[in-house]
Amino acid sequence: MQTTDSSSRSDDRAVLREKFAIPNLNPGFDKQNPPDSKVIDSCVHCGFCLPTCPSYRVLGKEMDSPRGRIYLMDGINKGEVPFSETASQHFDTCLGCLACVTACPSGVRYDQLIEATRSQVERNQPRSFAEKALRKLIFSLFPYPNRLRLLMWPTVGLYQKTGLQKRLRSLRMFKKISPQLEAMEALLPDQLPEKAFRDDLIGVTPAQGETRYRVGMLLGCVQRLFNPDVNDATARVLAANGCEVVVPANQGCCGALTHHQGQEEQTRQLARQMIDAFEPHNLDFIAINASGCGHSLKEYGHILADDPAYAERAKAFAAKVKDVQEFLAEVGLTAEMSALQEEPLAIAYQDACHMIHGQQISVQPRQLLRQIPGVKLKESMDAGLCCGSSGIYNILQPEIAQELGKKKVTNLTNTGASLIASANIGCFVQISKHLELEGKVIPVLHPMQLLDMAIRGKKLSR
Ligand code: SF4
Ligand code: SF4
Repeated sequence: MQTTDSSSRSDDRAVLREKFAIPNLNPGFDKQNPPDSKVIDSCVHCGFCLPTCPSYRVLGKEMDSPRGRIYLMDGINKGEVPFSETASQHFDTCLGCLACVTACPSGVRYDQLIEATRSQVERNQPRSFAEKALRKLIFSLFPYPNRLRLLMWPTVGLYQKTGLQKRLRSLRMFKKISPQLEAMEALLPDQLPEKAFRDDLIGVTPAQGETRYRVGMLLGCVQRLFNPDVNDATARVLAANGCEVVVPANQGCCGALTHHQGQEEQTRQLARQMIDAFEPHNLDFIAINASGCGHSLKEYGHILADDPAYAERAKAFAAKVKDVQEFLAEVGLTAEMSALQEEPLAIAYQDACHMIHGQQISVQPRQLLRQIPGVKLKESMDAGLCCGSSGIYNILQPEIAQELGKKKVTNLTNTGASLIASANIGCFVQISKHLELEGKVIPVLHPMQLLDMAIRGKKLSR
């Protein structure tokens, strides 16, 4: 009732403004895909989503909760709330973790709402010079592994080896320039392995034994540099379980990073390039070992829905995409495995948001890990709460991300597990960093690395 009244009031105001040429002092969303009022109206404001929302848990304000942001979107849609910098800041604090979508008993598609809103913010809200420059740097660097390599090879090598990194960190020089820059620098690994600068897996890895499936594999733009061992392990596990593994040379970035930040055109370009790279290889499936990437790749049909040349191809591509754990649990492991140590091994599996909330995958990784002899899984408190990584959120909103990283590491270590399994590169980087900050020495490995070791009969080093 109230909704109808308020929307007709705002319609009246729009007519009056037009008639008397009164400027609109409450500029709203532009006409290009504003958040859908039908989806907004499906929220019954019950608040069940609030305790699951990481930004609300840290900031404690209604406007930084899913319900509060839906109120804001509604107000802006109706011209009752200005689409101001303040409103945008509340949208910016959203991690896009989708925990609220899982929690909502009314099935509100907050994911669709925030996706539309982020693009509106990107198009219509001015950002400070420093923020614009940082975003430009991130979007022109991170999705392009070769550019990242070019920068990191001489720069990071010298920067770390000469001791300059230690010196600048101890003086907190980056914080003086910007907390975001400090957060970005803090994510740099201590050392980049040699193989981070090569793509050894490109080509075809034959299946061991009978070929059950022909599977494409994504290298990931950050993963191939920051943790290339995960890709090696994934290819070996797939091959050992009867998959011929195809890694196309011209694959770029899947577009997850830009997609989650409302950079629509760049995301579409990256998606088209990805489809072009994989399509000619006649694959049964495309296996993904980073949950953020998997979630975006499964969305290609939606991302390219308005592109006549790619819409159908994008749907066909997305239908083949599987998280590697989802895939292996479905087709079944055929390779023999042995224990990773003599005594039982307690592992805490960490649910990445785009895996558990974005793809509803939580059982399959646990099923696979339990098949390793001697593995006992430990469940942590608040398993579905974001670790604060969320793509580049830990760079853009370092204080909130810091708080969440600390919480996550405390919950994981409280399980008493001697190893953490994480299936997403962003979570791996965030959790490793916070373990180090807390002075805790616990290995963080991808489930594919654990399966690979168990298949090859390797033991965990102590
Ligand atoms: S989004 Fe869902 S859970 Fe949250 S307030 Fe609205 S209806 Fe309730
Ligand atoms: S996506 Fe995550 S951070 Fe954003 S409103 Fe939902 S629960 Fe909160």
